[in-house]
Amino acid sequence: MSLEGQHPVQLNELYRQVIMDHYARPRNKQPIADPTAAVHLMNPTCGDEITVQLRVEEGKVTGASFQGRGCSISQASASMMTVMLTGKTVAEAETAIRKFLGMMKGEPGPHKELGELQALQGVARYPVRIKCATLAWHAAEQGLQQATV
Ligand code: ZN
Repeated sequence: MSLEGQHPVQLNELYRQVIMDHYARPRNKQPIADPTAAVHLMNPTCGDEITVQLRVEEGKVTGASFQGRGCSISQASASMMTVMLTGKTVAEAETAIRKFLGMMKGEPGPHKELGELQALQGVARYPVRIKCATLAWHAAEQGLQQATV
């Protein structure tokens, strides 16, 4: 799906649809076989809870999944993250995580390389919700460290 050339109002609606689609039909929301790392994190201010599982083989993320419950932002972000990280090398995955966390800290764009994750860019304006969006990513960050020790 192209997110370019959209009128801002249409873009906001498109972003909302991307988030709701991942919330309603989460990708990779099941345990994976033979995970090399599993990290459970909570965001008490919102009640979000997430376990991210990763399988890293020969420097590559060959599996990424999540389980948990929480608000639409936390769940959609986790779903999109598992799609983004699967198939990447560990170095690429670390770069993607750094870029996403940077976007959520309000680093100026464009953030085209984050693809549909740009849908969460607007959340950076709401400090309370940033933790919802970044929860899974912090779990993945720790998971990559576990998996590559
Ligand atoms: Zn939340």
